[in-house]
Amino acid sequence: MLDEVKTRSQPLLAYKDFTDAALYKEIEELADMLKGAKVIHVNATATGGGVAEILQSLVPLMRGVGLDAGWHVIPPRDDFFEITKNKFHDGFQGKDVELTQNEKDIYLEHSKYIAALLEAHKPDFWVIHDPQPLGIIKFIKREVPMIGRFHIDGSHPNQEIWEFFAPMMHEYDRMIYSMKEFVPQEYTTDPMTALFHPAIDPLTSKNTALPRGQAETILFKFGINSQRPLMTQISRFDHWKDPVGVIDAYRIAKKEVPDLQLALVGLILAKDDPGAMRELDLVKKHADGDPNIFIFSDLAMVERMDVTNETFVNAFQTASDVILQKSLKEGFGLTVSEAMWKNQPVIGGNVGGIKAQIEHGVEGFLVNSPKEAAAFVVQLLGDPRLRTKMGEQAHEKVRKQFLVPRLLRDYLKLFTELKR
Ligand code: UDP
Repeated sequence: MLDEVKTRSQPLLAYKDFTDAALYKEIEELADMLKGAKVIHVNATATGGGVAEILQSLVPLMRGVGLDAGWHVIPPRDDFFEITKNKFHDGFQGKDVELTQNEKDIYLEHSKYIAALLEAHKPDFWVIHDPQPLGIIKFIKREVPMIGRFHIDGSHPNQEIWEFFAPMMHEYDRMIYSMKEFVPQEYTTDPMTALFHPAIDPLTSKNTALPRGQAETILFKFGINSQRPLMTQISRFDHWKDPVGVIDAYRIAKKEVPDLQLALVGLILAKDDPGAMRELDLVKKHADGDPNIFIFSDLAMVERMDVTNETFVNAFQTASDVILQKSLKEGFGLTVSEAMWKNQPVIGGNVGGIKAQIEHGVEGFLVNSPKEAAAFVVQLLGDPRLRTKMGEQAHEKVRKQFLVPRLLRDYLKLFTELKR
């Protein structure tokens, strides 16, 4: 059996204030048809990154509406995670990588081992998230519907990686992508393909309203002066999140806003992300000791000050003057919706799932370079009324489209279609 991630049960009622009546009713009706159905989600890690973040809320809510939902993580193996991160993840996002026969063998061998561990579970539906566990489809006995969920920006993938992987993905009964542009061309009209946007949870300590004064007090503990302007990006230290480009944008903007500060927050190092430390070193070098660049990568240091990761992220999303998510590729980018929920317009990379969240000039700005990002930082800092207006639009867009009840509805609907 695989290790289970312990989760609670969360009643749908807790979300009533945020959910339109028609959606609420639809969820109740769908849940009625699925009472007691056993659903097992499988992914690579219980903490760190967007998939874990989603499952921490989605699984309890599935339980809350009467499903027997569980969440299991695959056994870690270093050489396997090196391949899934540095070859698959990077390759899907377009990097020029080569996949050797030995690497394919390691991947398939571990997939076979995971599939064998899964056999003991007897769900009504499997939901398998991202490339790390998706390969089990080749080895598992297919007795119940198997749903694959791909969270990565695969809009311009490396061909070699796709050729190895895409046929496996399309053995699933349904393959869910975050954006239409991530679906490989040969599968765009495949009825097995489904599209869901991810979602955030308004009830977690990361996303519940934190008074600005309280948020500023937390930032002050960590050396940030809220009397001076602050731009922030919250993300794992990963080349695709472009933290180096954010530093470049800060340096350009600082010419016009001399007392500008920059925070880069990446506290959680996911188990399946061996490259994070390398990227962090690069970022520190690029910051070159600038005392106005604050780099946070040490969760233990934050917790020693009696602040949790969730509250730390919330405080920065609440009390920063400008939020960036300057990714070069992005499956979705939960951090964008998290900041928008806190009435922040977001300056985001003009890529992937960020484009689904931000309409340029409405809830923020989409940018293609550090120079463009810097120009919008300066514009937003100089125009508090624009910030307020865009922030309100951002909050409402998230309420309507990117909260977890809508994601629950999408899954329930799919389960009713696949029910045997
Ligand atoms: N996150 C966090 N602490 C950090 C940095 C990030 O809790 O120091 C969270 C962030 O709030 C978000 C998730 O990690 O919920 C990242 O998800 P996203 O979809 O933005 O990116 P991914 O890491 O999946 O590429």
